[in-house]
Amino acid sequence: QPTRLTPLLTSISRHLSVTFRRHIELSEPSEDVVLRIDPEQIRQLVIILLDNAIKYSSDDIALEWYRAQHSVVIRVIDKGIGIAEDELPHIFERFYRVDKARSRQTGGSGLGLSIAKRIAELHGGTIQAESVKGQGTQLTVTLPTEIELM
Ligand code: ATP
Repeated sequence: QPTRLTPLLTSISRHLSVTFRRHIELSEPSEDVVLRIDPEQIRQLVIILLDNAIKYSSDDIALEWYRAQHSVVIRVIDKGIGIAEDELPHIFERFYRVDKARSRQTGGSGLGLSIAKRIAELHGGTIQAESVKGQGTQLTVTLPTEIELM
């Protein structure tokens, strides 16, 4: 369905900041974009990324989107516990969790990011993670603008 990106991201970040009482800083370009996406799937994808940022950090979280070449980039940035370099390649695997013992504290099954990756790929896009242990993590989703409508 034709979906405006900024209102979609605004509603997700408002909803999660109210629910979890965490500040989510949304930055977007002055001009919106209309994408041919499944809004419920993209909502789920962004919720997975924000939910992780909320679970694995305690500072403010940034959610941003911008246009790139033939694509839009959606990014979630946190200043949390980060992910070790050797763990990073595995986080998109099903049921993968960095610290198995953590499951009791923060819940989670290790499925979130594998679902996020699947949704990005169903839209012809990609998802990438960059992280520094102890400093923070950024998850970047790139969606092709072949799905753009205007
Ligand atoms: P859930 O299925 O509820 O999302 P989960 O968070 O354990 O549970 P994933 O979302 O798939 O599962 O994430 C996999 C692992 O990657 C997590 O267990 C966590 O160790 C690590 N991870 C994901 N996002 C972050 C983040 N923002 N900061 C630090 N570690 C993260």
